[in-house]
Amino acid sequence: MHITVIGSGYVGTTIAVCFAELGHEVTAIDIDEEIVTTLNDGQAPITEPGLEDLLATHAGERLTATTSYDAVPESDVTFLAIGTPSNADGSIDLGALEAAAEATGEALADKSKRHLVVIKSTITPPSIADVLEPAIREGATGNDDVEVGMNPEFLREGSAVTDFQNPDKLVIGADSAWASDRLRDVFEPLLDAETPVVDTDPETAAMIKYANNAFLASKISLVNDLGNICKEFDLDAYEVMDAIGLDERISEQFLRSGVGWGGSCFPKDVNAIVAAAQEKGYDPAVLEGAVEVNDRQPDRMIDLLANHITLEGARVAVLGLAFKPNTDDVRNSRAIPVIDSLLNYDADVTAYDPVAVDEMAVQFPEIDYAQTPADALHGADGVLVVTDWEEFSDLDTEFEEMATPIVVDGRRCIERRDGIVYEGLTW
Ligand code: NAD
Repeated sequence: MHITVIGSGYVGTTIAVCFAELGHEVTAIDIDEEIVTTLNDGQAPITEPGLEDLLATHAGERLTATTSYDAVPESDVTFLAIGTPSNADGSIDLGALEAAAEATGEALADKSKRHLVVIKSTITPPSIADVLEPAIREGATGNDDVEVGMNPEFLREGSAVTDFQNPDKLVIGADSAWASDRLRDVFEPLLDAETPVVDTDPETAAMIKYANNAFLASKISLVNDLGNICKEFDLDAYEVMDAIGLDERISEQFLRSGVGWGGSCFPKDVNAIVAAAQEKGYDPAVLEGAVEVNDRQPDRMIDLLANHITLEGARVAVLGLAFKPNTDDVRNSRAIPVIDSLLNYDADVTAYDPVAVDEMAVQFPEIDYAQTPADALHGADGVLVVTDWEEFSDLDTEFEEMATPIVVDGRRCIERRDGIVYEGLTW
């Protein structure tokens, strides 16, 4: 099939490259010329394990990138993978997606070939009929043969390629058998007999994505809440969670308490579904509580450090800036409230991350960035570990370089040892 993917960010790039790997001819469209050039050069515009290798194989062959929407009417299916960030009040900002939807419609105007436009972006259910379908149809004047489907994405940054290639489920949101069949055709080479396919309408498909993320985010917040209680009782939350994870109804996944959830999805998606529910007059108390617990975790880290040192004027190292390991994405990273708080205390911050320094420097140009963890630790009065990059668990004699070796570990990736004062966030 010929597939167009509009938006070449974390999701768009991953799915475009993976569709090419499945054997499809793919056109990736983005308004950002630098991204387009990078892709056509066979380079990955984002840090994501496995992506560079696939790009080296397919760029210029089955995958081409462009800023023009001309390929849309030539292709069989168009995927919209545009960002859906938060407005200031937490509600979903559909501006960029709506513009891309309209441009997609315009590219299909006056054409006679039946075309399926699939929304990959995470969107609230009512926005399909209220905003996106009208935007596509308004653009596509003179063409009644455009259908709109929904195919939410469940990949995780840091393991996006593997997740795409080994999906737990495929959710197809379509209003007609034709649209559903087209979507199934796209994923056919990927599906084995065991992959569950959820065939539903577009609105339910959109809600499944929010329910998925809201459930996982709430699970982590519940675990963090319980972890905080464990810390107050001087108990090890990980021992407690390992035990409850043996219960099949709970499962052992997502039981690692720590500094909380961040990233480009959980925070904005939980806020968006809360705001969308409130607009209908319903207050989702559990989800609001999940957000509140999450907002408190970074402050708990700061408080633990403040139990040992005066933060004002202290040199504090922050290890980890990306919202999780193996990505350079800093959107809503827990490092942001941590650094904000340190700056409010007038601490002198030096941060280190193996790949996300440039991204964070845009937000915090006023702090220092180290080239290595050792440089960050050298002379520091305390260190906050915010992201569990594997290299942090190998740190050893580097702690001896600190002025006062106080380690507050928000991810349980540093071993307790002689010679350091170790504070686990919930253990
Ligand atoms: P992103 O911000 O990384 O990428 C969006 C891309 O769209 C950017 O490269 C931007 O230049 C481009 N763009 C904006 N307007 C455009 C236009 N009119 N035409 C063409 N390109 C345009 O976003 P993302 O993280 O890839 O997320 C995309 C969607 O997927 C969001 O709704 C998100 O919630 C959802 N999602 C993300 C993840 C994830 O892990 N990042 C996982 C599942 C679902």
